[in-house]
Amino acid sequence: MKQVYLDYAATTPQSPEATKAMRPYFEKHYGNASSLHQFGQRAREAVEASRQNIAKFLNCSMAEVFFTGSATEADNLAILGVIKSSKLHIITTAIEHPAVLEPIKRLEKLGEIEVTYLPVSRDGLVKVEDIEKAIRPNTVLVSIMYANNEIGVIQPIVEIGKVIKATDQKIIFHTDAVQAANYLDCDVQKLGVDLLTLSGHKIYGPKGVGALYVKKGAALEPMMFGGHQEQGLRPSTENVAAIAGLGAAIATISNRKSQIANIKKLRDKLLDGILKNIPKTSLNGSADNRLPNNVNISFSGVEGESILMALDQKGVCVSTGSACASGSLQPSHVLMALGLSHQQAHGSIRFSLGKYTTKEEIDYVLKVLPDIIKRLRAISPIK
Ligand code: PLP
Repeated sequence: MKQVYLDYAATTPQSPEATKAMRPYFEKHYGNASSLHQFGQRAREAVEASRQNIAKFLNCSMAEVFFTGSATEADNLAILGVIKSSKLHIITTAIEHPAVLEPIKRLEKLGEIEVTYLPVSRDGLVKVEDIEKAIRPNTVLVSIMYANNEIGVIQPIVEIGKVIKATDQKIIFHTDAVQAANYLDCDVQKLGVDLLTLSGHKIYGPKGVGALYVKKGAALEPMMFGGHQEQGLRPSTENVAAIAGLGAAIATISNRKSQIANIKKLRDKLLDGILKNIPKTSLNGSADNRLPNNVNISFSGVEGESILMALDQKGVCVSTGSACASGSLQPSHVLMALGLSHQQAHGSIRFSLGKYTTKEEIDYVLKVLPDIIKRLRAISPIK
C-alpha cells in the first residue's frame, strides 16, 4: 500500500546527516563527556561542536546554549526557572503548546503566580497592543510561541520583543521556536528574545533532545539539582549521540530556501485542491502569516478522527487537533481559541508537509480525500 506521511509537525523523519553524526557515539566514542580521559574528550568535542552549530544558527554565544532532554523540558525550564518567588505575573497566549501552558497552570494552581492568557483573533494572531496593555508592575515573563504547532500561525515576535523592551521593567521574553526552526529566521538578536526553545525531532534530528537559548544575564534557576553539567542549569550526563544528531540537523537547516519554496508550492496545491473540490471546508488560521508546511482544515459535518482513520486506511498519515483526555474527546484548545464551535473543532485535520513530500503524494491525497469525506458525510449523524 502507498504510504504518505503528512505529519511532519508531530515529528520528522530523521535525516541521514543526523543519523551519521550520531552513530560513532553509540558504537565507538561512548565516553561520558565529563570524563577527563580520551573517551571523555571525544564525547565533549561532539557536545561542543553541536553547541557551536546551534549558537551559529541562533546567532548567540556558545555559553548561551543549554541542552535539555526535549523541548518540553526546555519550555518548563524557561517558565519554572524564571519564577523564583511568588506574586509574580506571567503573560502568555491561549494557544501555546501544553509544554508551556501546563507548567504555567501548575504554578497558577499552587497560587504562586498571576497569569494573563492573551486571546487571539479568528486568524490565530496575538495583538501586539494587547501585550502592552497586559504588562503589570509585577510582570516578569512573557512566553509567546513563534509558530503554532496546530495551525502554523506565525506570531509577530520582533514587534512583541520591541514592546517588552520599551518598558523599563526587567521582563524576560521566551519564545517556543520548535515548529518555526525549519522555516523562519531564528536569529535571537533580530528576534529580541531572552529565551528560545528548540526540539531535535521537529527538524529531522533525533527524539528526546532539545535546547534552550538563555541570553547572558537572564539568570534562570535549575529545575533539577545534581552535577555541574550545562553550567549547573541542567545537571545529568549529556546524551552525546542525541546532541550530536541535533547539531547535525541544525547545520542542514541553513540551506533551505529552495526547499521551503517547494514545500509551500505543494502545500498551496493541497490547500487549493481541498477548498475547491470538497464543499463545506475552511482553512483554520491565517493564510498569510503561516508556516509554509501547514494546512489545517475544518470539514463540516464529519469527525476529524473518522477522517484520520479513513485516510490511514489509504496509507495517508495526518493528525487531528483533538486530544483524548480522560476518556472524553476534548476539542483542540487552539481551535476553540480561534472561536470555532465544538463541532468545527472536532471536524479538523492538520496536514503538515516536509522536505521529503512529493507532488505525487499530494496528488494521491487529493484523489482519495473527496470520496472519504463524501462517504463519511453520508453516514454522519451531524448535519
Ligand atoms: N512546543 C511545540 C510548539 C511543539 O510542537 C512540541 C511538540 O509537539 C513541543 C513543544 C514539545 O517538543 P518535545 O517533543 O521535544 O518535548
